Amino acid sequence: NEVVIRVQNLKKYFPIYKGFLVKKHVADVKAVDEVSFEVKRGETFALVGESGCGKTTTARVMLRLIDPTDGKIEIMGTDISRLSREELLPFRRKMQIVFQNPIGSLNPRMTVGQILTEPMLFHKIVNSKEEADQKAIELLRMVGLKPFHMDRYPHQFSGGQKQRIAIARALSVDPEIIYLDEPTSALDVSVQAQIVNLLLKFQEELGLTYVFISHNLALVRFISHQVAVMYLGKIVEMGDVNEVFDNPVHPYTKALLSASPIPDPAIEKKRKRIILTGNVPSPIARPSGCFFHPRCPFRMPICEKEYPEMKFVSSNHQAACHLVDKREV
Ligand code: SF4
Repeated sequence: NEVVIRVQNLKKYFPIYKGFLVKKHVADVKAVDEVSFEVKRGETFALVGESGCGKTTTARVMLRLIDPTDGKIEIMGTDISRLSREELLPFRRKMQIVFQNPIGSLNPRMTVGQILTEPMLFHKIVNSKEEADQKAIELLRMVGLKPFHMDRYPHQFSGGQKQRIAIARALSVDPEIIYLDEPTSALDVSVQAQIVNLLLKFQEELGLTYVFISHNLALVRFISHQVAVMYLGKIVEMGDVNEVFDNPVHPYTKALLSASPIPDPAIEKKRKRIILTGNVPSPIARPSGCFFHPRCPFRMPICEKEYPEMKFVSSNHQAACHLVDKREV
């Protein structure tokens, strides 16, 4: 499959200043630090990690909702990292986002019809209001809602239905890439599966590429092709989702997987548990060497001194850990 997203050495630093009248730059929060990866058309690329690891900031920078500090974001061959607002417009249409909380992402003063037709008219996907209304009704049908829902307001729907409307809105402008930011975590367990099935159906039917941000590793495994594990702004392990989850190399990935329930007792039995101790260090003062060393049960003297570069474990699996060199993995 063709590569549709290529992120190279992406950085997003938030400067911290001290002083009131005379501001002095004292440090940077390195929320995203030299992140590189590729996403192929029609695949799902998952970004996982604890809160504050940089996964949401990475997605926001990729969408150019915030500007990168440095690095490249190639979308279908064009580097969009420095494009102006006007130049970004066609890419804004191609890249849509579905947020965690559909309540906050749907305008409460607009009817569902207005919510769905506004982006189509703005991006000139349709030639008339009538055509937009027709397309909106078709979108509602695709997400399992009825034509009479066009005249209703978001508060008249359940959480699952609101997320269906948010998905219909994302689809209204014929996107190629959809960012899914914890799209099911605010929903009841009973409706989560319905939303996941809907997303999978659209990916297959429309050839969509997804960037999926999630804490839920079982769900990541179910819907993703590739996964990147982030820790303090850096990718520490990345590759084919089954390879990374079946044979994790980085102790942080192992710990995340240890904390996530596995429905299969056979796998559960074989698994050695690594329990994470300590808190995530401050992103302003990250530890020396490998940022994970204060929490790592396998740390060696080199770990406090040198940051481990990303190395290939197999052709579609990389990890940033000194254990890769020692072949003790
Ligand atoms: Fe642990 Fe060292 Fe690997 Fe970091 S580099 S994860 S401290 S073994």
